[in-house]
Amino acid sequence: MQQFLQKLKTQPMMSGTSTGQAFWHTSAEADLLDSHSPVDGQLMARVYPTTREDYDQVVETARAAFLKWRLVPAPRRGEIVRQMGEQFRQYKKELGTLVSYEMGKSLQEGMGEVQEIIDICDFAVGQSRQLYGLTMHSERPDHRMYEQWHPLGVVGIISAFNFPVAVWSWNAMLAWICGNVCIWKPSEKTPLTALACQQIIKEVLEQNEVPEGVSCLITGGRDVGALLAEDPRIALVSATGSTRMGKAVAQTVAGRLGRYLLELGGNNAMIISQHADLNVAIPAIVFGAVGTAGQRCTSTRRLIIQESIYEDVKQRLVKAYGQLRIGNPLDEKNHVGPLIDRAAVAGYQAALFQIKEQGGRLLIDGEILEGPDFESGCYVRPAIAEMPAQTEVVQHETFAPILYLLKYGTLDEAIALQNGVPQGLSSSIFTLNLREAERFLSAAGSDCGIANVNIGTSGAEIGGAFGGEKETGGGRESGSDAWKAYMRRQTNTINYGTTLPLAQGIKFEL
Ligand code: NAD
Repeated sequence: MQQFLQKLKTQPMMSGTSTGQAFWHTSAEADLLDSHSPVDGQLMARVYPTTREDYDQVVETARAAFLKWRLVPAPRRGEIVRQMGEQFRQYKKELGTLVSYEMGKSLQEGMGEVQEIIDICDFAVGQSRQLYGLTMHSERPDHRMYEQWHPLGVVGIISAFNFPVAVWSWNAMLAWICGNVCIWKPSEKTPLTALACQQIIKEVLEQNEVPEGVSCLITGGRDVGALLAEDPRIALVSATGSTRMGKAVAQTVAGRLGRYLLELGGNNAMIISQHADLNVAIPAIVFGAVGTAGQRCTSTRRLIIQESIYEDVKQRLVKAYGQLRIGNPLDEKNHVGPLIDRAAVAGYQAALFQIKEQGGRLLIDGEILEGPDFESGCYVRPAIAEMPAQTEVVQHETFAPILYLLKYGTLDEAIALQNGVPQGLSSSIFTLNLREAERFLSAAGSDCGIANVNIGTSGAEIGGAFGGEKETGGGRESGSDAWKAYMRRQTNTINYGTTLPLAQGIKFEL
């Protein structure tokens, strides 16, 4: 790991507040934030949290940078993002490994996360030439009317631990090509990967003489995130994390009539119809439920199975779970790595207890693994529970590998169960029946931001708009026209005639 950190020019003891090119801080040693790896429990880094004084300096540097950056032509901004993508290609192995070690996801998924950064860079380069506005026909003679899109200003990005770098890039790369500057507050559980990202893009920023402050990093816990939410100088707060966090951020930002973009918790279901191809469905279920140890916002948490195939699906799942290898995620042979910390393990245990209390039956019981290779205390056995109904524990997102099985008779019942939770992120149906698939995708079908057919709930491509409804927060990031969230729309009317015709035929004579 040391050699990777050296290559990334990131020191474990490095102070944590940055305005792109410089790292500095005014916080005391006593306040240092410790980052422990869930893989082996080792202390990876001690990072200086951002103080109020640091924060104000960062925001002022960002604001000054915005005055220059907003005037750089968008395709030129895209070219700089393209160069960042090249840097991430170069450092993919090192950064992917660091993501895996700091967060605990498998090496493959760590690399996959860096690939997402590269992909969004490529997407943003193309988008930088397509920040299109519409042209409208004016009702007045000799008038032209059109709309254009301008940058917002300073964008605050609050990110969660489970995608420690990709979520930042989804926001930052689009925000930058749109002409904004960014201040990133990563999760306090994964500060080192954020520092590494800043180091990776630093060279590009310097070589292109990008003003100091276009890319800023602040570190710390929720109190530091709250600084962004309260601050009227932050034009947009894009926050990814729990619904509890999203409600707090939304209320604060709405109180100052600011803009927010929320990507919050999911409680994703798959419907397995009697017309499903189970050879495709079973691996999708297992990957969706245990991948990243159930710590994806899109993890499969609920399985809604047609009653005629319920026993068959159940048996196949129990068999597949029996083959899972749990252990160090840096070892490619393992399927399931650790949870992020012991608090997450406690949440998993509490859910297992509630399952029994609420009439559930554990087909595969949960367990905290002990002994050599499990010293961090964060490794748990993925569990499967049969539930009598969508009880309270099923309604709640437990960020751990617990899969709930539910039975249905008709497709309408299945859709009602799928929609019958407070969250609305990702959903899918496995069926080869066209009518079922189309009904699931119709206005009377899934109420989620993502609805799939014959692929699982987990994982998304950057080309589509990503996000969900209800308690998931309603925001959309990444592809399609998600860029519009990072810009303000301006309608322009130009009179090139010699008279002043008023709208709606109103006469005003002097
Ligand atoms: P979390 O809510 O504990 O923390 C997320 C971030 O918000 C952290 O940076 C944290 O410091 C900050 N924060 C917490 N409370 C805050 C407050 N009151 N004001 C300002 N900032 C605050 O979430 P987590 O445990 O890091 O991540 C897991 C959660 O994130 C899950 O619910 C998961 O579903 C969700 N998530 C959603 C998406 C999505 O795109 N929908 C993606 C990734 C994760």
